[in-house]
Amino acid sequence: ADWVKDKSVLVTAAGQGIGRATALAFAAAGARVTATDINETTLSELDGKLDIETRRLDVLDNADINDAVAATGPVDVLFNGAGFVHSGSILEMSDADFDFAMDLNVRSMIRTIRAVLPAMIERGGGAIINMSSVASSMKGVPNRFAYSTTKAAVIGLTKSVAADYVGQGIRCNAICPGTVESPSLQERMRAQGDYEAARAAFIARQPMGRLGTPEEIADLAVYLANATYTSGQAYAIDGGWTI
Ligand code: NAD
Repeated sequence: ADWVKDKSVLVTAAGQGIGRATALAFAAAGARVTATDINETTLSELDGKLDIETRRLDVLDNADINDAVAATGPVDVLFNGAGFVHSGSILEMSDADFDFAMDLNVRSMIRTIRAVLPAMIERGGGAIINMSSVASSMKGVPNRFAYSTTKAAVIGLTKSVAADYVGQGIRCNAICPGTVESPSLQERMRAQGDYEAARAAFIARQPMGRLGTPEEIADLAVYLANATYTSGQAYAIDGGWTI
């Protein structure tokens, strides 16, 4: 259960929320963590914590990703955390909104996986963990058209990578959370005008009667890195939303 100990872990979107908690959880499990984000201010809060190195990394930029991987050395665990919620239905979304959502939520993962996979194959193993969502192919959720479409694509790319490289020691799984208390969720609740009403509505869709915490999701990420007999799965962690 301690496969991750002393392994090299690359985390994207580690500046806040689930990514930040995941960087800390891997470091607490004894891994060497490179925590990355475009926001260097929030990222700097991780400096000097456990065995964590921080680095600015924009997942929209292929050259940036290749530079980061070259600097880090071979990556054993890739945690693809970056993602953005576009709110709205198909009729409330522009082509530019969709292109951005695909770029940040899907192509970013293609870029990072391409960058780390050759060395994983060469070294005979690796774990890739991609942030999807219950709002995906798992469940239709109102006002999440672009988001759910991209998060369904994350499940597809996860299974495809798992199928292609299962014989070479590579495991690739997706995490599908329900509603998690993160800075961007706070922003979405404030953006709706009546914060308390928005919060109550988010809580109401979780049968457990509360929001999830980033730490709960981070625990699943570490579990999946250690779970040496599972690949190609999409794990719901959703307060009972999909029961
Ligand atoms: P968040 O949205 O609060 O933070 C996102 C982080 O991504 C920020 O630190 C931001 O600076 C960074 N980022 C944005 N663009 C970037 C880029 N181009 N390159 C690198 N970093 C970039 O975090 P969260 O809400 O914990 O979400 C993390 C992941 O979990 C996302 O993929 C999200 O879709 C998914 N998710 C979240 C929830 C939830 O309820 N919070 C539910 C399901 C899935």
